[in-house]
Amino acid sequence: MIWHKQWIFGNWKMHGNLADNARLLQQLSTINNNNAHIGIAAPFPYLLQAVDLVKNNSIVIGAEDCSRFADKGAYTGEVSATMLADCGADFVLIGHSERRTYFNENNEILRKKIDNALACNLIPILCVGETLPQRQSGQETAVVAEQLAVLQGLSVNHIAVAYEPVWAIGTGQVANSEQIAAMHAFIYQEILSILGENVTIRTLYGGSVNANNAAEILSIDKVDGALVGGASLKADAFAEIIAHAKTE
Ligand code: PEP
Repeated sequence: MIWHKQWIFGNWKMHGNLADNARLLQQLSTINNNNAHIGIAAPFPYLLQAVDLVKNNSIVIGAEDCSRFADKGAYTGEVSATMLADCGADFVLIGHSERRTYFNENNEILRKKIDNALACNLIPILCVGETLPQRQSGQETAVVAEQLAVLQGLSVNHIAVAYEPVWAIGTGQVANSEQIAAMHAFIYQEILSILGENVTIRTLYGGSVNANNAAEILSIDKVDGALVGGASLKADAFAEIIAHAKTE
């Protein structure tokens, strides 16, 4: 993983098929922006395909989740961090809001996933963010602080977090620049106090990032990149977002 560039990472969610993935990754492989570190979080069945298709360039491939259980065992349906690393993944999303909502993932579960990822040399990207009622009642920083508390006691010198306000994911409603700047500054401050001053941080913004708003979002202080859902499924839109990445 490259820690001094802006990360433009796609999250395919439960989308894709072999033919579309191949087309999309081939188009992405031709992109040339030295300022961007490009990554794709793919569904489990497509990890090997994706790793194979990007092996001659610098795009990194990761998973959208991993098991709370380590290594291997009688856990039908689960996929361990060990297996992801074995397939050539470099990173894994942890605690995406859809996992928190539909699978009741809490800090206890998420910490196990983070520990498992780190044990396999996968970079966990911890997703945090408040719901609309939580923001409307002024609780957004308290909510994010509680989510970041999962990092307490970790011994790492690099950490990646995605700030994704739940109300902005897949809705077309983007947080405004002031909201993003304030939360990213807060996340930096929290991480430094939890993990120490020497930790290297990437804080990505996620939530309806598209070709039209990427330039503004990626120019906000302490926005170290973007986690992109819907727009990462279209090569042209994703390429336009990547074009706005800048060296910091
Ligand atoms: C996401 O799923 O992480 C996301 C940010 O989705 P979208 O870009 O579609 O809002």
